[in-house]
Amino acid sequence: MIYRKEDVNEMKEILVCGDPGEEFEKNFYAKLTWEGYGWNKDEELRIYEIDEDGFEKLFKESLVSIFNDVKCVYSEGCNLALPTNVSLVNGRKLTCWNDLFFGQDAYRNKYMHLLHYIADNFKVKEMVSVWPIIVELSKYNDMSLIDLLKVYQEFEIRIERIKIHDEIGIHDLTSKNYIIKCGKCHKERSLYDSDMINGTIVPSRCSCGGENEFRYWLDNIYSDEEYKELEIKASLLDIESKLLSNGYSKEKIEEIRKEYSSGEEYLNALEKIRRSMNDKL
Ligand SMILES: [Zn+2]
Repeated sequence: MIYRKEDVNEMKEILVCGDPGEEFEKNFYAKLTWEGYGWNKDEELRIYEIDEDGFEKLFKESLVSIFNDVKCVYSEGCNLALPTNVSLVNGRKLTCWNDLFFGQDAYRNKYMHLLHYIADNFKVKEMVSVWPIIVELSKYNDMSLIDLLKVYQEFEIRIERIKIHDEIGIHDLTSKNYIIKCGKCHKERSLYDSDMINGTIVPSRCSCGGENEFRYWLDNIYSDEEYKELEIKASLLDIESKLLSNGYSKEKIEEIRKEYSSGEEYLNALEKIRRSMNDKL
């Protein structure tokens, strides 16, 4: 079969903010080609390739709400002059405009990611206004929309909260209570999604080649009283394991524990035993 040009169903790229659900592809003859994040992990962005029939069915205006917070955006671009600047966006150079609001000597040219750059320079945050600028940027940087988003919008998601299980309990930590530190160059950095492998923190990559260490502290997340109790618990575990490795049986340690009503008294008693053991050595 020979197609004439007008027979060919031309594909369009649309942006969907939010999760349009499983039926979306079927209902609108759409194909998912990119998915990523907007401002943060709560904001999902997707690019779909959609054919003319699906496009006609879906779009009456440049912005369509499918349901709740899920919106579809389409744009062919907007009128912007030739870009004259270069900014560092997501660590990579981007040909762009960055003297629109700040003036030549006041402009900043380092941005976390693409949306960050656009919000700062164009004073827009809604995707219906942001998307035409992204379309223009893809033209001037000679990149497909997907490549542009891959390079400038796929950033690492920082982990803000984490649950730590250790021998004294389970602790709910915020990013202020832990750090990843390189054992060689001592550079500190945040924890990212990519550091987690099957629920375990595996921070093994520093650009200097050094092994990263994960450290956390508990004094900020517990009251003074709770913290003191945890300290006692940690000391007890420490001494008990030393006694066990010095020939004390579990039953013997349990017997000693029963003699004391408070953890602090028990700890003092164990300390005494440990000191006497050290004296003998
Ligand atoms: Zn390092």
